[in-house]
Amino acid sequence: MYRRNKLNKFRFQFNNNEEGESSNYTERVRERPPLGLKGKQIGLWHARKNRKRKLGMENGDEEKRRIIPIAQVLLTTQEQKKIKSILTSTSIENVFVTDDQSYSHIEDSYFKRSFLSNIKGSIIEKLTKSCSQIIIDQGLDERLLDELANKSYNKQYTSLKSVREKLPSFSMKHDILKLIEDNQVVLISGETGCGKTTQVAQFILDDYIEKGIGSACHVVCTQPRRISAIAVAERVAKERGEALGESVGYQIRLEHKLPRDRGSICFCTTGVVLKKMEQDPSLSKISHLILDEIHERAVPSDFLITLLKDVIKKRKELKVILMSATLNADAFSAYFDDCPHINIPGLTFPVTEYFLEDVLQLTKFKFLQPRNQYNRYAKTTKQLKSEEEFNNFVKPYVRNLEADGTYDKDVLEQLKNPESEWLNIKLILTLLEKICQNNEDDGSILVFLPGYLKISALHKDIQNSNYFGTKLQKYIIIPLHSQMPSVDQKQIFEPAPPGKRKIIISTNIAETSITIDDVTYVIDCGRMKRSDFDTETNTQTLDDLWVSQANADQRKGRAGRVKPGVCYHLFSRCRQLLLEKFERPEITRIRLDGTILQAKILQLGKIQDFFPKLMNPPTQEALDLSVDLLKRLNALDDDEYLTPLGYHLAKLPVAPQIGKMLLFGAIFSCLNPILNIAVSLDFKDAFQIPLGKEKLADSKRRELGIGTLSDHIVLSRALEIYETTSNPSSFCREYFLSYYTLKLLVKMKGQFMQYLQDLQYVSDVYPKNKTNNFNSDNLSLIKAIVCAGLYPNIAVAKTNKHGRVTNISSPDNKRYEFHLKSILSAEHFFPSPLLVYYLKIKSTKDSIYDATVVPPLSVIFFGDKYQYLEDKGEEFININEHLNFKSNRSTSLVINDLRQRMNWFLEYKVCHPGEIDWSNSKAVDGINILRSIMALITNEDTGVYTVSEEDSDSD
Ligand code: ADP
Ligand code: MG
Repeated sequence: MYRRNKLNKFRFQFNNNEEGESSNYTERVRERPPLGLKGKQIGLWHARKNRKRKLGMENGDEEKRRIIPIAQVLLTTQEQKKIKSILTSTSIENVFVTDDQSYSHIEDSYFKRSFLSNIKGSIIEKLTKSCSQIIIDQGLDERLLDELANKSYNKQYTSLKSVREKLPSFSMKHDILKLIEDNQVVLISGETGCGKTTQVAQFILDDYIEKGIGSACHVVCTQPRRISAIAVAERVAKERGEALGESVGYQIRLEHKLPRDRGSICFCTTGVVLKKMEQDPSLSKISHLILDEIHERAVPSDFLITLLKDVIKKRKELKVILMSATLNADAFSAYFDDCPHINIPGLTFPVTEYFLEDVLQLTKFKFLQPRNQYNRYAKTTKQLKSEEEFNNFVKPYVRNLEADGTYDKDVLEQLKNPESEWLNIKLILTLLEKICQNNEDDGSILVFLPGYLKISALHKDIQNSNYFGTKLQKYIIIPLHSQMPSVDQKQIFEPAPPGKRKIIISTNIAETSITIDDVTYVIDCGRMKRSDFDTETNTQTLDDLWVSQANADQRKGRAGRVKPGVCYHLFSRCRQLLLEKFERPEITRIRLDGTILQAKILQLGKIQDFFPKLMNPPTQEALDLSVDLLKRLNALDDDEYLTPLGYHLAKLPVAPQIGKMLLFGAIFSCLNPILNIAVSLDFKDAFQIPLGKEKLADSKRRELGIGTLSDHIVLSRALEIYETTSNPSSFCREYFLSYYTLKLLVKMKGQFMQYLQDLQYVSDVYPKNKTNNFNSDNLSLIKAIVCAGLYPNIAVAKTNKHGRVTNISSPDNKRYEFHLKSILSAEHFFPSPLLVYYLKIKSTKDSIYDATVVPPLSVIFFGDKYQYLEDKGEEFININEHLNFKSNRSTSLVINDLRQRMNWFLEYKVCHPGEIDWSNSKAVDGINILRSIMALITNEDTGVYTVSEEDSDSD
């Protein structure tokens, strides 16, 4: 009945035809709509009827309810034999027992013990057992005292000492030290740049050394970003007249330059401290823990603050110092049972503020006509909302200005253009030129932009501009972003040489964590990258959004460090009134999957017990959605314990779905393509849609994906070609790809490889090494692994009797549509009714942004809640309660057996880390399990399935 080539091993049959004519499993009686119904009502009656029929609920008779399969999956006897024969040669066959919570079937090993102690343990128990490991060493104390005394002969130390002594924090040194001595927890707030980060840790250390107990002091100071941990450590070492690695050091993920164990200060990212707590929750080697920049309300710091509330009860001598910019500091003191709070008054000069209307008046800048791409690329709810705001607030404001008469008519015309509400790099460039033309002084200019790509774009535009192009020797242009190559510290902080001027283009890292003193002009684009999680659609976004009022104030303050300054906000005064006062804490704006895994690996117990203790707990819906996802990913079991897979995922600092894809990519040795897909999904895809060229861009994307039915393969191919072609720029131009995004993605691949190496899944960090890519040419395998990672993000395609796709929906029948950026939006015939996707965007309908058509077997193999069912003489496999596949008992047994072996394999890998050697033909490390799984999940693409009208009645 099907046309298939001879390689085809499985038979899939669609059975979800919209019109249902083909269904073998429903006995249909043609019923007519009741008399009296008219027009649309008749349509609705039929629709309702159809829906009921599909759910098997016709006539409301439970007895008659029938299982409607969406496809048919049968393994031939030969196939089953083949899979079994690979398996019998596996050396681990004998030890194969699973589903045992004690994991007694796995031989004892160090890794097994640490896994078991982790999933069974609790942080409170561990805290009770541990104690401080700080022991006084008199010999060291004396040496430290001498070392400090000798610093007065150190030129660098003495010259910077006079600079340090001018900082506002210096005059409060004794008050700060006294407060810390008298209390276990204190809060220090102060204007940015007053000398908290660089000085407080030094005050403490020097005080201990001077008292002759330097060996009892090990200060750890957390930073929200990698780049600031390094920059601050370098600065502090310099202030102490030392190199890094003596009394000062840093530690960030995968990189460190540690100071000596005692009599020292270490600057770490907050994540590193959390990681330390996995092994040593009482932080037994630390005497003082400083949590810096807590006002940013990043998840790791919120998390750590909550954890510390338990730790300090058990480790009475641990000192905790919370540090924040002035904004909203009292809330932290209140959270820590009204801990004492000291504020360091700042030293700032007045800053004149200008807004968009003033900038337009100054520059005579004109925006382009309103963009129309969102008409074609379906407006999201957010875009609709901002448009509504524009019409409700901005337009009336402009009318008021008209009456007022302060601004030119042209300026008001520009303000009426919705484009004025978007970030415009050309406007920033024009304003930069004006500032440089009009002001002969050499005050540095600090531009705030939302992210790497915008920073790169402005950097490039400055270099190519007529004005700056010819005078580049007069300017020092410094991009500042954590992903940019290591920044030249000297250039950023030191005043520019006479006759030169610094232009620093930065993310909000320059808002509070890095202070550049000589800035007198600030350009605030008013936007920053912000994550948001919509529990209604279960989607996470990372967009450039309006900053909060607090951010805008901080940015303005940066211009008044050494003398009166000027700040240009690129939003109107009316928009300013609409800004949120403070940014919402990050934990209330993100998906919690990763955070929950982290809580689990830290042994914080039941989610319901820990999360409500946070300063601003996330909503119950957000927690439930993430717990549910983690269970479906097989990362948590029904009792909320970490599974072996969950244990691995918790150690990877990426979203669990991406992490799962990476782990499977490593296990099945097809890393390069999987890394290409993982980084593109994790950061953003590199495809652009230039105005007016949408159709051409669409067709170019489709060209890359010919024959794949997969947006994910398109992403992989784009990176693959970019990395191998001799002329990447022209490739990017031709295919409408962002060169900068691709460049960044390549860098991220290296980072992800390091994570995998850290977990011992790979033995080198080169994405393209043959050892990591034994199976990378196997397209079906790549798709199956994409499915493994993205499940349970499944959609079902429904077809009409001609096999043409008529609509797509969730497994429980919620309507979806393809986003126009997906190459599948232009496809009408799929060989399988199942799709996996990563991102779903809420617009007028829920639209799927990226998808891959996957064969039923991948979904069955990687899906959750596997069941074999018999119903009225027929046999089925059911996945996640909603998806039924017609099958038979022997096929089901083989699949189920392999599913269990996969779990066994993951357990085995927890206890026996190490790279899997695919080049070895011997059956070691359970590789035959992987080979047989591969035989199962990759077979689909070898067959061609064409369902024709007369065929569609089954087989
Ligand atoms: P706070 O943490 O209170 O915002 P910091 O301790 O970071 O203040 O900064 C204090 C002073 O030290 C600022 O004037 C800043 O410009 C200067 N500073 C900080 N880091 C460096 C550096 N790497 N090079 C030169 N000066 C620096
Ligand atoms: Mg600071």
